[in-house]
Amino acid sequence: MENNNKYKDASYLNCVHCGKCLPVCPSYNAVLDEFFSPRGRIRLILTDNGGKLPLKASKIFESMSSCLLCGRCVKICPNDVKIGSLVINEKIKLNKYAGNFQPKEKFVLKALKNKRKIILKSALKIANIYPVEKLADGYFPEPEGKSFIRNRDLIFNVSGKNILKAGYFSGCVFNNIYPLVSLDTITALTENGVAVFVPQAQGCCGLPFISSGDVKSFKEFALKNATAFNGENLDYIITSCASCSYSANNLYPLYFDENDEGYSEVIKFSKKLINIWSFFKEAEKIGMEIKSGQLKKETDAVFHIPCHLANAAGFKPSSPNERLIGEAGKIIDKIGGLKLKPLKHNYCCGNGGMLNIKHYNLSKKITKRKFDEIKESSPKEILTSCSGCMFSLKDQKGIFKENEMLPVSHLISVYAESLNNKK
Ligand code: SF4
Ligand code: SF4
Repeated sequence: MENNNKYKDASYLNCVHCGKCLPVCPSYNAVLDEFFSPRGRIRLILTDNGGKLPLKASKIFESMSSCLLCGRCVKICPNDVKIGSLVINEKIKLNKYAGNFQPKEKFVLKALKNKRKIILKSALKIANIYPVEKLADGYFPEPEGKSFIRNRDLIFNVSGKNILKAGYFSGCVFNNIYPLVSLDTITALTENGVAVFVPQAQGCCGLPFISSGDVKSFKEFALKNATAFNGENLDYIITSCASCSYSANNLYPLYFDENDEGYSEVIKFSKKLINIWSFFKEAEKIGMEIKSGQLKKETDAVFHIPCHLANAAGFKPSSPNERLIGEAGKIIDKIGGLKLKPLKHNYCCGNGGMLNIKHYNLSKKITKRKFDEIKESSPKEILTSCSGCMFSLKDQKGIFKENEMLPVSHLISVYAESLNNKK
């Protein structure tokens, strides 16, 4: 197949097929089939780029589209094979074969692109009506309230000296589907003396689009977001979604080059954007004292570490909770009454790369393994820090028997609740 994709990465040539990446790959472990493994995907890319592949584009796409872009293989690979971006590049190459998109995927991407967010919310409401839900064979989250950002910029001022000023990037899920997470993030920031600016002109981080090989829409969203925050004198741009930070921090610089319109704005935005947990660590280094809160009732919980929130190189845990869950452990130490229970493996939740839209049954097999791990700790609540993980973890149908449903929340919401109790 002709390769006219300008996003070339030759690291697939470094693969020695050693198989070290197999045990960590969620899609491979769910089906034990090399077609769904990192090594198998590299083999397909290698042969396809050599022009020798006797397979249809739709078949190659099936292997690529079942990759969760979790990055677990990249971390373990001794030869620096960049599997995630190689998979994305292959999808970009295959994207012109329109038949590769499934109706559900097309519908989601169209709804995300639509400026009238009411369409996305209405579609999700209809999808949750029992007969439609049954027909759709999948999970559709229900919007939990009115959108956080509506038709104007939001400004949250605080008083005091040497105030930090941050922008807040909500991402489309924490804006439209779980808006309370956005509100709780603002509470956590303002209670700690951080003024927050929320531009109305921001949009999706673009990850659903690049995950489907639509690099054009991805870049349009990146530029829209960079422009929305440009011109404001902000110390940081903060997000509470792990997938949004992965998209802006890791993928924006990969898919923009100097010849692209808005290159410098996008790179500036990418460098300034930081996930909420890294922000608290950074802010503490420059003298901010992070407030403690108190829960009314003692709670046992597990924290699911999103794949896109894996620790940056060089992270040094400074407390037992940080040793357990990384940077987010800093806030656990500030929430009186929250007891963190360990998870043995921190398996993937099954959502990444829009897997629960494209391959629902495979996604659920991966989620099932996550829930088996969670059950061993018998928590009262599941906490996490990513919109995609919240989708997967809230979809507990057919996973827990006897109608047992565990609440799933964002850790920032628990922190905000503990701060509100202290007021
Ligand atoms: S660990 Fe790296 S080199 Fe080994 S099979 Fe996987 S991608 Fe190839
Ligand atoms: S990114 Fe994750 S799902 Fe994709 S090949 Fe690597 S380990 Fe497997």
